[in-house]
Amino acid sequence: MAKKKITGAQRFDQYYADIYQDRWPELKSSFLGEKTYVAHFNPYYPNPPQLIGKAFYKWGVQAPQFPRPQANEVGLFPYYLMDGASLLAAQQLPIKPGDTVLDLCAAPGGKTLILAYKLRGQGKLIANDRSRDRYIRLKKVIDSYIPQPDRQIIETTNRDGGRFGMESPQTFDHILLDAPCSSERHVIESPKHLDDWRPSRTKKLSKDQVTLICSAFDALKEGGTLLYSTCSISPLENDKVVERLLQKRDQAEIIPLSLPMGGPTQFGYHILPDRDQHGPIFLCHLKKKSIN
Ligand code: SAM
Repeated sequence: MAKKKITGAQRFDQYYADIYQDRWPELKSSFLGEKTYVAHFNPYYPNPPQLIGKAFYKWGVQAPQFPRPQANEVGLFPYYLMDGASLLAAQQLPIKPGDTVLDLCAAPGGKTLILAYKLRGQGKLIANDRSRDRYIRLKKVIDSYIPQPDRQIIETTNRDGGRFGMESPQTFDHILLDAPCSSERHVIESPKHLDDWRPSRTKKLSKDQVTLICSAFDALKEGGTLLYSTCSISPLENDKVVERLLQKRDQAEIIPLSLPMGGPTQFGYHILPDRDQHGPIFLCHLKKKSIN
């Protein structure tokens, strides 16, 4: 009798059911449910519009739907729509005005804005993305949210993030590496992506992420900190990547996180939408210790 062909969707389901066990059905259905967005206010925008929703800390308002933000007469937008867990993650970098900061995989730029708001026009921010199209979108986002003269401290670059460690070693006080990842939430929503899904996909991404995290770490100054994040639920792309960095770089040290949502993993924190409404996001905060 001919063997029954397993579909990509079945492979995907089995892979994540093995990892998440009893939690998987609820987690999977939360990916397909209505998404909550946060309207993250632009502090440069005078008199922000009143929005209907629940306050999301001091940074914005959350709701399933919002009107598309409209630019004012000088081309500035009042809020940026993003996932609440992503917002919380990017807020964890202890950036202060005057710091030198790198956003290694920055496009389209929601988290770049958070880093730029923290610098308040003082210091330096490099926002990088390897994709040409996404880099152009990133520039547009920065122009739409950060007015001059504060925008002058932001440089956008279109380079392979894997090269920064070699080309700009020991340069940055803080780095955000929001890595390209499996993005299972999007895979679930797309029959084509589900059909193509194989475990080799997350294995390949994990390898690329190790290259990027080592590069980011090498670009940090001693005493500097790195926030590693993904929107993947695959441990290979999260704790495993951090474990590889800890094995490869003696100066790497975990900074414990304490967040108002989600829960700790082996090295970081995971915020998942079945229990927390926001996410998925994995994050891990690391420090580069001094050698002496
Ligand atoms: N941080 C972004 C935000 O908040 O809007 C989202 C970043 S997205 C998860 C990952 C990004 O990494 C994509 O825009 C992709 O083009 C970029 N990317 C992929 N490989 C890269 C590489 N080797 N170097 C730099 N950027 C890369």
